Amino acid sequence: MQFDENLIRNVVAQVMAEVGPMPPLSGDASAVSANTAPPSGSAAVGRNGVFTDVGEAVTAARHAFEEFSRFSMSQRNEVIAIIRRIAIEQCEELGLMEMEETGIGRPVHKIEKLKTLGELSPGTEFFSTQAFAGDKGLALIQRAPFGVIGAITPVTHSLPTITGNAVSMLAGGNAVVVNPHPSGKRVATEGVRRYNEAIHRELGIDNLICVISEPTLESANELFAHRDIALICVTGGPAVGRAALRSGKRAIVAGPGNPPVVVDETADLDLAAQSIIQGGAYDNNLLCIAEKEVFVVDSVFDQMMEAMQRAGAVKLDAAQIARLTEKAIVQVGEDNHDAACKDFIGRDAAVLAAAAGVNIPESVELVFGETDEDHPFVSVEQMMPFLPFVRARDVDHAIEMAKHAEHGFRHTAIIHSRNVRNMTKMGRALDTTLFVKNGPCMASLGLGGEGYLSFSIAGPTGEGVTSPVTFTRERRCSMIDALNVVGSPDVV
Ligand code: NAD
Repeated sequence: MQFDENLIRNVVAQVMAEVGPMPPLSGDASAVSANTAPPSGSAAVGRNGVFTDVGEAVTAARHAFEEFSRFSMSQRNEVIAIIRRIAIEQCEELGLMEMEETGIGRPVHKIEKLKTLGELSPGTEFFSTQAFAGDKGLALIQRAPFGVIGAITPVTHSLPTITGNAVSMLAGGNAVVVNPHPSGKRVATEGVRRYNEAIHRELGIDNLICVISEPTLESANELFAHRDIALICVTGGPAVGRAALRSGKRAIVAGPGNPPVVVDETADLDLAAQSIIQGGAYDNNLLCIAEKEVFVVDSVFDQMMEAMQRAGAVKLDAAQIARLTEKAIVQVGEDNHDAACKDFIGRDAAVLAAAAGVNIPESVELVFGETDEDHPFVSVEQMMPFLPFVRARDVDHAIEMAKHAEHGFRHTAIIHSRNVRNMTKMGRALDTTLFVKNGPCMASLGLGGEGYLSFSIAGPTGEGVTSPVTFTRERRCSMIDALNVVGSPDVV
């Protein structure tokens, strides 16, 4: 999809002028609730899912869930169709609202992510009923909802994650309460308000998707602990994953990654370069699945660097990389470990280049350069469009370094190769949830490859790319000695 960024900026400026100011940034809860009904139980109808209090949100979602349980499957599909329609039709306005609020990523990709999730997130068609028939009758295996799910979403894709989660969770018959990242709370709140407002208007049910409009760590913990939260789904870094697993509830954890790329001597280097730029530069490297560091075998290393330049990336030299590292990598925590500097996360390649002391056109999507394997840009999940390239003796050395850089997250790994033995070796060694061969990272989510789309990839807890099935319980319904219509009539 092609977008003219200037045109989009102008359109959004006009739209923002027409819709007026966004919800308040912090503290002013009254501004959110001033024009709405009292916030508990069925009295919360008309709130359109927007709450400051976790208890009130969960109560409203619980009521919505009970009402939703009386809906037919075709009505459930209508609810999902409304979310899809808004995500697609309002992708420009909402995507740019997210860009304006978070200040990270690329406008064109903020828009595209919402549109694509609206189009491709799997719904109720994902379910199939399993049956066992035999001498003892018939058993049906069906998928049932959990109830109200508590979800935590990241700043990197605030409304997109809510949108994908909502489609999957509601397809499973659940309701959801979301505690978004504080830096993406306004677009999260506005998106949820729009989804509920339309669902309420068209189908008479409100608060199926609730959002905490002033989210904090305390409200996240309150959500985890609430007795009416049946299941937790968190999408974010290591701290929130640990917090969810400590909650004592079943948790689906879509955790951090640091996806390594290996390029061996059999690879199509031009295709590898184009793929690495497409994946590594998308939304300025904010995707958890995005290419973060590249290990290239020595015999094709220099050719690969040339292929990257041919494909449009700009190479930084050692002194420039050192200057960038000084600014973009900081030391944090009691152990003084390296981390990405917030001022550079999700910023354009031109901003990174400027920090390195080079002027490049704004149209450049990615900067890159040679580092050693111990460089902080290799070990840190940088989420910015600078990729370190490390020279490997051979493919075994490249795979060994890739495994080390992935930190055992078992999230995503990528190889460019025509040698199936090398692919197999790397697949086994890294043991990641997603393993991509000869394409950009997003091909593993059905965007240029096979499979379905989700923005919550649950590696640590093992559900993989989440789908409507992830958010359902298995139930078995058995009929004893009857309804197996195939067999001898004398046995019945
Ligand atoms: P983050 O970990 O800072 O925040 C994620 C969410 O968790 C936010 O809502 C935040 O408020 C909350 N949170 C953080 N610490 C918490 C705690 N101790 N208790 C309760 N809640 C807490 O991450 P981010 O910067 O928003 O997003 C980027 C991270 O998310 C990266 O590590 C990326 O890999 C990961 N991510 C993973 C997936 C996936 O599908 N596996 C998808 C997107 C992002």
